[in-house]
Amino acid sequence: MIMMLLGAPGAGKGTQAQKLVDKFGIPQISTGDLLRQNVREGTALGAEAKRYMDAGKLAPDDLIIRMMDDRLGKDDCAKGFILDGFPRTVPQADALLGLLKKRGLALDHVLSFEVPEAELMARLTGRRTCPACNSMYHVTANPPRKEGLCDKCGGVLIERSDDNDATISNRLKVYRDQTAPLKDFYGRNGLLCEVTASPGATPDMVFETALAIIGRKG
Ligand code: ADP
Ligand code: ZN
Repeated sequence: MIMMLLGAPGAGKGTQAQKLVDKFGIPQISTGDLLRQNVREGTALGAEAKRYMDAGKLAPDDLIIRMMDDRLGKDDCAKGFILDGFPRTVPQADALLGLLKKRGLALDHVLSFEVPEAELMARLTGRRTCPACNSMYHVTANPPRKEGLCDKCGGVLIERSDDNDATISNRLKVYRDQTAPLKDFYGRNGLLCEVTASPGATPDMVFETALAIIGRKG
């Protein structure tokens, strides 16, 4: 099974991806996590990408596509995978078709998580992440059991360097301008499933809705 998750920053892609990983036993491939890993390890790719990330801009398509070609070639992708944060532009979506086709694969589902923009701002400003295992928390909505520490692995939680007000509004604009058009792209070929999180819906409720939609589509 090959799934792709669409949604604005803060829409809950990462959280839902983790649930899908647990349910289907296939890996999550997050371009954001891959880029941050490159930044931490000080690779040339990381150094180039960091300039864009810190400004809330997208990294260049060719860099992302090369990184994904490499990642999709790894053994753990054999049974399927969950794409989180890729593609984010129409050229990336075109490139993905080629990356899948040369491996004899095709997308099964595109899930688009719909959340109002005011809610997105609130979620992103209180967000904390564990750099060791990529688990996500929120200071008020989803706090860890021990303040500042990851429930899963005990790692020290950090605020992502791009989770500040100026960068956040840029990322939301980039989403509207460059990524939201992908909904038409995938709507046209019947792959798009829109998952609307009603106000106050917990991550588990959103997950149940997503599963029901996938199930109906078959
Ligand atoms: P978000 O929570 O904003 O969705 P991600 O962790 O997916 O964050 O991505 C963080 C940053 O990494 C983006 O703002 C962008 O600079 C870069 N990035 C991630 N995925 C892509 C991509 N597919 N194309 C270009 N840049 C990307
Ligand atoms: Zn952790």
